[in-house]
Amino acid sequence: MNSYDYIMVGSGIAGLYTALLAKEAGSVLLLTKGSIEDCNTRHAQGGIAAAIGKNDSADLHFQDTIAAGDGLCDIEAVKILVNEAPDRIADLIKFGVPFDTVDGQIALTREAAHTVPRILHAGGDATGEHIEVTLSRRVRMSSVKLMEYCLVTEIVVENGKVRGIKALDVRTGSMLEYESRFVILATGGAGRLFKYTTNSDVATGDGIALAYHAGAEITDMEFIQFHPTVLRLPGVPSFLISEAVRGEGGILRNVEGYRFMPDYTPDAELAPRDVVARSTLYEMRKTGSDRVFLDVTHLPPKLITTRFPHIYRFCLDHGLDIAKGLIPVAPAAHYLMGGIRVNTWGETNISGLFAAGETACTGVHGANRLASNSLLEVVVFSKRIIEMTQSKKRTPRKSKVAGVHCFLQRPAASETSLQLNLLNLERLLWDKVGIVRSGEGLREAKAVLMAWQQCLPSAIDRASYELNNMVLNARLMTEAASTREESRGAHFRSDFPHSSPSWQKHIVFKAS
Ligand SMILES: Cc1cc2nc3c(=O)[nH]c(=O)nc-3n(C[C@H](O)[C@H](O)[C@H](O)COP(=O)(O)OP(=O)(O)OC[C@H]3O[C@@H](n4cnc5c(N)ncnc54)[C@H](O)[C@@H]3O)c2cc1C
Repeated sequence: MNSYDYIMVGSGIAGLYTALLAKEAGSVLLLTKGSIEDCNTRHAQGGIAAAIGKNDSADLHFQDTIAAGDGLCDIEAVKILVNEAPDRIADLIKFGVPFDTVDGQIALTREAAHTVPRILHAGGDATGEHIEVTLSRRVRMSSVKLMEYCLVTEIVVENGKVRGIKALDVRTGSMLEYESRFVILATGGAGRLFKYTTNSDVATGDGIALAYHAGAEITDMEFIQFHPTVLRLPGVPSFLISEAVRGEGGILRNVEGYRFMPDYTPDAELAPRDVVARSTLYEMRKTGSDRVFLDVTHLPPKLITTRFPHIYRFCLDHGLDIAKGLIPVAPAAHYLMGGIRVNTWGETNISGLFAAGETACTGVHGANRLASNSLLEVVVFSKRIIEMTQSKKRTPRKSKVAGVHCFLQRPAASETSLQLNLLNLERLLWDKVGIVRSGEGLREAKAVLMAWQQCLPSAIDRASYELNNMVLNARLMTEAASTREESRGAHFRSDFPHSSPSWQKHIVFKAS
């Protein structure tokens, strides 16, 4: 069969959850470029936010989300997010996600910038793994047709309407083509563009590139959240040390053992992620070190091993007992707030094309994401996508924040001595489009990327497709970051260190 009602691209929480809902409405094909478990979702530790606690309310959750978004949240989308959260949590529980409980009640913890405890978690700090395993098991047992190791290479659009997709079977090299009424991109983020990242290898921004080439709008690409505390041990793969560790009392020290965060902000270790990431970077520069240390040795060992079993075990397996020794950490790219511009029903500007999860920009995160709102965003808006595909009604987007439209310049004659390869791309983005940006650095990055765009490798296999996609994503990020001459949320410009009311708007790209 080469025709389906729904095609889902990606097997993280967005692809799996949407597929499980869609199968009740029609035939479903789910393609994913690696194995079903290759995704970012599996690595999520902290949990999923929802106002279900006694002292909590949708209104409080709304206020916290808006405050984190720094003037760029879509008000209507945030209202939907916080109001529909409890029902979507109930759905996850019905699917079998084993959230942790205390005395028979769902356990809730607090993360930075949430005013009350509202984070549900599973297996302590293994929330993503539990979600991924639960949903992928259900998909495998369902009527959903699952195709692993199939990389989607093109969205076929005719007369402004989606017709299907083309894909590469990465194991045989053969090209595949499928028709569908609805295509839902659930391809995740683009953290892989940066030298230091918490993201898995699949996060190469493919969905954003696919949508851009198909004529969809892409927005907010300058807003990348950097996580302040990622394990920095030689030879050990990147591993997140959850925010919740600071929430439980973890202290940041520089290489000289000095607790530096109170020098930067009264909130110290509990300041928003971007503030902690920047302060950490400054401290690393000041002390000439590539790391700082997270200290939990003053906390009861029992708390560490029961609240953070996954982190404790990972570090122990790499020779570090965190109950006794300091944890070497440094910031890394973590989450992309921007992506494919969708309305509150997950629709792009192309009929039949939807986006869900980290690849989408629903507007709920604005300029900075409130911790643990991303898994929630996936379930809330994925449900709405399937509802919309079954309904005739269309709700035009009512964003409360204005947008400015931009186009990428066509690659002009420009040269660079820097060879195009993954390592150089990751270094360029980290150095010039990273935690602290400047006009000069962004101009340098733009020139290199323009030159690279003229010598892109022919897309013949997974690596070359991904590299092409990453260069396009890098151009979108760099162009947006250089256009936005202010600092807001996760976007910090050393030459424009303050936010400007005239920039309370989105930057939107569309292929010319
Ligand atoms: C270490 C870490 C910890 C986190 N902790 C939290 C947390 O505690 N709470 C929270 O809310 N959020 C957290 N996040 C963010 C959250 O996990 C992600 O935003 C979310 O899981 C994204 O889900 P997704 O389904 O959109 O993407 P992913 O889970 O990344 O899945 C994307 C899928 O698309 C596939 N794919 C990509 N391109 C193609 C293509 N061209 N063709 C076919 N398939 C393709 C990939 O193979 C993958 O299966 C964390 C993220 C990380 C990295």
